[in-house]
Amino acid sequence: MTYKHIEIPENGARISINGNALSVPDNPILGYIEGDGIGSDITSASLRIWDAAVEKAYQGKRKVHWCELYMGEKAAGIYGGDFFPAETLDAIRELTVSIKGPLTTPVGGGFRSLNVSLRQEMDLYACVRPVKYYTGVPSPLKKPEEVDVVIFRENTEDVYSGIEFESGTNANAKLARFLRDEMGVDFFEDAGLAIKPISPHGTRRLVRKAIQYAIDNHRKSVTLVHKGNIMKYTEGAFMRWGYEIAKEEFRDQVITEQELWDDHDGAMPDGKILVNDRIADIMFQLLQLRPGEFDVLATMNLNGDYLSDALAAEVGGIGIAPGANMADHIAVFEATHGTAPKYANQDKVNPSSLMFSGVMMLEYIGWTEAADLINRAFPQVMDDRTVTYDFARLMENATTLSTSQFADALIDKINRL
Ligand code: NAP
Repeated sequence: MTYKHIEIPENGARISINGNALSVPDNPILGYIEGDGIGSDITSASLRIWDAAVEKAYQGKRKVHWCELYMGEKAAGIYGGDFFPAETLDAIRELTVSIKGPLTTPVGGGFRSLNVSLRQEMDLYACVRPVKYYTGVPSPLKKPEEVDVVIFRENTEDVYSGIEFESGTNANAKLARFLRDEMGVDFFEDAGLAIKPISPHGTRRLVRKAIQYAIDNHRKSVTLVHKGNIMKYTEGAFMRWGYEIAKEEFRDQVITEQELWDDHDGAMPDGKILVNDRIADIMFQLLQLRPGEFDVLATMNLNGDYLSDALAAEVGGIGIAPGANMADHIAVFEATHGTAPKYANQDKVNPSSLMFSGVMMLEYIGWTEAADLINRAFPQVMDDRTVTYDFARLMENATTLSTSQFADALIDKINRL
């Protein structure tokens, strides 16, 4: 494919899909989108860290060939005001694996979130957020080491699907009339209206991915999180369809909580994954009080958004939490925080969220040796208490480093491993 502004590195090769698996050459081309605000600071620091880990792990036998893609404010400058260029989407499809920094979304009308648009355009239906404790990271929990949870958040449906009708518009009045006259429901005059679609298709593919992940990664349980006691035909249906697919497609590998008590008196049989469900509000409490009881979570869009930030706060906050948006094979890894505009271009913020998203990316392409080096070097930097401002304010006797200095410190540790 030819592009107007994207330059595909000549010496790299594309990742391909072979049956159900990725086929990754030793010189893969991976896409990256710098992002707005603090994006350029954290991206340049992270690129250096990933490259150092790959070089150390494979001594030149493997190398990532980075291909810059454009979205957000940088894209608008290059593509004459287009924040969301079509050729960037084409390149994300062609390259299969990419990573992105945060993108600005002005609050209020007129501008659709680029992140939401990207997820919907590319049908990146699963937002995957692993949240685990790294030794030395400041945490408000008594036993933060118990936190090791992977959230699979549905990415395309729910109240985030953008079916909203503004108060005072003709469309709003028309829908309100239909709901009152035809459906016999009532609500306050001039209420803004939104639709919350939750489908069997959207639920089943998300829960399938979560269970498959649990199987592949030897996890103990998959918990379906929902508010089905109140929203029976959306959130309650998510739970029912989740159990259905667990039993239909993974019968030999899973056991439901009901089966556990009915047939096994509560004793987990060997080699099985527990599929259970919990109401969303109690999950917030349980993840603070007994995080060790949870492993993989499958959630709808809104619940998962709240839950993943709350959980990240237990082990260092959004400055460190990584994430990915995935379809069946195409994956866009991303920092989970926003553009923090007040810190833009100050070389100040923590690059770890993007950097650990890159660790997930290295694992996804099977380069686990490079990922492990970063995972092992990171606690050593924490141990030295050489951290960016956000961690320094939570630690005693810490030395505050800039973004680039933090990258230097981490690379130094990687090179000494
Ligand atoms: P934000 O950019 O995530 O920043 C909120 C606060 O979180 C910052 O002020 C800072 O806290 C802390 N923080 C964020 N990133 C950090 C980092 N790398 N290191 C250390 N601390 C960090 O959230 P926001 O201010 O609500 O949103 C700003 C813009 O980002 C909006 O346009 C929003 O739509 C967009 N956004 C984009 C994404 C995405 O692209 N995925 C996600 C969320 C928000 P302190 O001030 O306490 O230091």
